[in-house]
Amino acid sequence: MLTESAANDARARWFSTLAAFLARDFPADQRGALARIAPTNSGAEAIEAALKFARFRTGRPGILAFSRGFHGRSFGALSATAPSPRRDRFAPLVPGFAHVPYDDLSSASKGVNDATAAVVVEVIQGEGGVHEGSTEFLRGLERLCRERGALLIVDEIQTGFGRTGRWFASAWHGLSPDIVVLGKALGGGLPMGAAIWRAELGGFDPGFHGSTFAGAPLVCAASVAALQAMSDENLAARAQTLGEHARAELQAIGGSGLRVVRGRGLMIGLELKGRVAPVLDALMDRGVWALAAGLNVLRLLPPLTIPEADLAFALGVVRETLERG
Ligand SMILES: *Cc1c(COP(=O)(O)O)cnc(C)c1O
Repeated sequence: MLTESAANDARARWFSTLAAFLARDFPADQRGALARIAPTNSGAEAIEAALKFARFRTGRPGILAFSRGFHGRSFGALSATAPSPRRDRFAPLVPGFAHVPYDDLSSASKGVNDATAAVVVEVIQGEGGVHEGSTEFLRGLERLCRERGALLIVDEIQTGFGRTGRWFASAWHGLSPDIVVLGKALGGGLPMGAAIWRAELGGFDPGFHGSTFAGAPLVCAASVAALQAMSDENLAARAQTLGEHARAELQAIGGSGLRVVRGRGLMIGLELKGRVAPVLDALMDRGVWALAAGLNVLRLLPPLTIPEADLAFALGVVRETLERG
């Protein structure tokens, strides 16, 4: 029988394991460590927790987000997601959200004011086409937030846990967010997300946020095991090595419909001159399952544990498919 204290033990163990993991790439600075953890059942719910906490903490309504951004499909997360026909058919969305062009600090500066609770941003936009913000842009957002009393929320749901070749993509830019949002790889395949913020920001009042199954012992145990395996197998370094090799190979694809190769680690985007949909079908027919990111970007997100022979096979199929046109 699972006792209350066993449940609490599993969660406490997960909290401390995750906090230690985060501390590798987010060392405590003068604003404190990322140590307050709100467990959730998905990435979208973790975004909800972060948005609610930012409004709760600052007492302000405004959320600034970016063109091409993606943060999930619940109403708050959808409101932070960039406007598009797919999003806007669910209007009216949550009030108080605004969007400005990604990677454009002067537009962002005009959008952050004394009614802004938070700025929410991806270090590398995933669904939006594998676009990475410049260090100047991302650090500039951090500075704007600090100067104007808003919180910086970094969505690392897709980029977190070694995907980009560092444990967290923020590390590539020396970013030091107030709130980091996690999901996807966090649960090792089980449904789990988390919003984590600086301890000095305090907690939620009890009852303001939570969910029946969030932080349940089973997912906490799975997450601890997944984090341990990622460390033991040093998957961030592996993603970095395999990703550099893969991008070099993809860049050499000849005379075809390929415009540019982007990304970091094993988060790879190939911008095509034409539409991606027929290419995805052709790849699928030959045993390679890729994703679209927008209308003309082919996205490759192989498992960080992919055997080298499988990756070589997939890259070969991508090359042949694109070269055949
Ligand atoms: C997948 C994703 C989400 C949403 O996470 P879910 O677990 O699918 O709700 C949010 N933001 C980013 C950047 C994502 O890649």
